[in-house]
Amino acid sequence: MNEINLTGKVILAGAGPGDPDLITIKTVQYLQQADIVLTDRLVSEEILTRYVNPAAEIIRVGKQCRRGISTPQKTINELIVEYALKGKLVVRLKGGDASIFSNILDELQAVKENNIPFEIIPGVTSSLGAAAYAGIPLTARDHSTAVRFLTLYKSTVVKDDYWKELAATDDTLVFYMSSETLDDLVQKLTENKIASDKLLAVVEQATTPFQQVYISNLYEYDATLKDKIFLSPSLVIIGKVVALHKEFAWFESAKNKEYYFKPLTALAEIQQSKEARA
Ligand code: SAH
Repeated sequence: MNEINLTGKVILAGAGPGDPDLITIKTVQYLQQADIVLTDRLVSEEILTRYVNPAAEIIRVGKQCRRGISTPQKTINELIVEYALKGKLVVRLKGGDASIFSNILDELQAVKENNIPFEIIPGVTSSLGAAAYAGIPLTARDHSTAVRFLTLYKSTVVKDDYWKELAATDDTLVFYMSSETLDDLVQKLTENKIASDKLLAVVEQATTPFQQVYISNLYEYDATLKDKIFLSPSLVIIGKVVALHKEFAWFESAKNKEYYFKPLTALAEIQQSKEARA
């Protein structure tokens, strides 16, 4: 195994979608040597307990904007830079993959401006975790030849022409951060006459013991899923491949329904950590 340099470096790493076994060996090796771990809300406590160097300081800097709790990106950048310039090995740990729908660019720019060495370590992004654990192969032969990673965190991010294109394509569509705008999403796709053999799946807390998969025809959505409140985090998958779930679902979820990821206490903790350092 490679020798890992221990001085003043930033590792931007993905922790995978939930199941602690879905993290990469490379990320685990860095977590075992880290001085500081800055972690997101969608990284489980189990991962932190199992893999992080017991001597490391863990700082929770999650974002949960819809609930109004979040650590400003500027503060996160400052913490990363501050510790790295002190010669620490800083691991910035993100849920899923480090780059997909994350603020990695801000952090890369901050690191680069300060000439700090860095690495980016990929992770299993949640759509791949959800697809595997829900038995929905995203580009299954004869069903789809491509997959798109999208988001509809607010309705205005997708323009009218693009809705037409999304309704017409045979590509599998995966929407991140979109369970709260699902009514809009379904409405736009059905207005644009999406084929009725393309189904909708919502995968809640994918790859965790509390994973749930809800499936509906888009034209029956009002009667099936419209009034459901999905637990965070949830992903939306749309396409012909969704039908394969019925035959290939394999993952057994726990009987009880709980939140797997700890609710955010980021601001309080960051305050404490600042006070501890003062
Ligand atoms: N970097 C992450 C995505 C961050 S955006 C990744 O690669 O997965 C946050 C969104 O990811 C959530 O709103 C949700 O749509 C999705 N997500 C992350 N983890 C998830 C999980 N375990 N189950 C379902 N969706 C998940």
